[in-house]
Amino acid sequence: MSSHIECDKPQEECGVFGVFGVKGAAALISNGLFCLQHRGQEAAGIVVSDRSTMRIHKGEGLVRNVFNEDNIGHLPGDVGIGHVRYSTTGSSHAQNIQPLLVECVDGFWSIAHNGNIVNAPKIRRDYQESGSIFQTSTDSEVMVHLIADPQYRNEKCRVKASLAQLEGAFSVLMMNKNQLFCARDPQGFKPLTLGSLGGGFVVSSETCAITQLGGEIIRDVEPGEVLTIDKNGVHSAFLPGVKKENYAHCVFELIYFARPDSYIFGNSAHKIRFFYGQRLAIENPVDADIVVAMPDSGNSATQGYAEQSGLTLDSGFIRNHYVGRTFIMPGSKDRASSVDMKLQVVPDVVQGKRVVVVDDSIVRGTTMKNRIQNLRDAGAKEIHVRISCPPICYGCYYGIDFPDKDELIASHQDVDRVREYIQADSLAYLSIESLLMPFDNPDDFCKACFDGNYPIGIGDKNWKKSFERTC
Ligand code: AMP
Repeated sequence: MSSHIECDKPQEECGVFGVFGVKGAAALISNGLFCLQHRGQEAAGIVVSDRSTMRIHKGEGLVRNVFNEDNIGHLPGDVGIGHVRYSTTGSSHAQNIQPLLVECVDGFWSIAHNGNIVNAPKIRRDYQESGSIFQTSTDSEVMVHLIADPQYRNEKCRVKASLAQLEGAFSVLMMNKNQLFCARDPQGFKPLTLGSLGGGFVVSSETCAITQLGGEIIRDVEPGEVLTIDKNGVHSAFLPGVKKENYAHCVFELIYFARPDSYIFGNSAHKIRFFYGQRLAIENPVDADIVVAMPDSGNSATQGYAEQSGLTLDSGFIRNHYVGRTFIMPGSKDRASSVDMKLQVVPDVVQGKRVVVVDDSIVRGTTMKNRIQNLRDAGAKEIHVRISCPPICYGCYYGIDFPDKDELIASHQDVDRVREYIQADSLAYLSIESLLMPFDNPDDFCKACFDGNYPIGIGDKNWKKSFERTC
């Protein structure tokens, strides 16, 4: 009998949360993951240590479905890491759920990773050729092989020596029974922030999880930094080759992915989005009656657009918050049905009106096309679409789950053709200049999805789908 195993599926958009030195770490991590739920809704997991044993619980579904008082009660300890996982079609296997927990010759290690490691296929193949066996189909698994490798195991800082072999995006938490490690790749693609809480330390993909749980923000983990947290406190080291001129923070975290109440790379996500809305109104004004948001991703930019334009802000769509993020459902059928369940037009708001609709992005164009149809059905007179980022023309290889280039509508259609496809009366995107305007150091950002300038090698372009094998 044969079946397909897809290998080297990147972890894409995920969230990580770690704790050191706080009793009841598992409960804290589950609450932290709950605050990061928007970063991944397919699966969640926690590993904790009571300094003698490491225990794990993980499962498919939302954080509140995976964890309850009973299973949290079976996870004693004050050190731990957790992960919420995004879905990529074909990789919904239970063994891919993180954290990964493995036994090395000198004890157990666990990892939780956000980002894409672009040289993972090569590292994986090299290990396989020398006899190693891989259990998952994620790019993250190469990290546990590197940790176990005697070449790096005997180095003074084993985590640093292991991570130095990687290229790509990694905001990663690692632990053994006594230590927590937190690291970011030298480009600093994905966010990671250190905080204090309950007399110990917490580390999170986004600040919103630290502050919502009553913690204090200490600082971001720096690009290329490896923090070791143990009984001696916090120790900082840097991966080789870290250069400020190579920083490449993912601008799409600020446009769309992060929760608006988070500070990402030192910037308030809400304020940046509000500013983009203001810039959209300056660059692309239109005669209209009202401005409405595509909730929730367009909320902050819509407020900015309304304030700048002086147009009345109204609730043209009501969102059902109990449906997962449409995009995040695996498989296009699920996506289509959840799109229909998620938003509902308020006819009295839009009927007979010239409506400006603001959303953060257009990817394939299907969401906006459907929404415009809904607005027309409800009697809107004119529909003017404003998008608070430039046209997305190139795929992402570092951790945002965009489809392949040919499925990105703006990669092969100019603005007017996209407008025609979505059936809007007018369509305008934010300019690249406005996108970069809020930053003191615009060169510190990766905007490859807009301009195709990939800051580091992307490896095999097809690697997201690569290494299919039959067994
Ligand atoms: P589409 O229908 O493919 O054009 O999707 C556009 C919608 O998906 C917008 O409303 C965005 O807020 C949302 N979106 C954009 N990028 C992503 C992503 N990487 N993951 C999930 N949702 C996204």
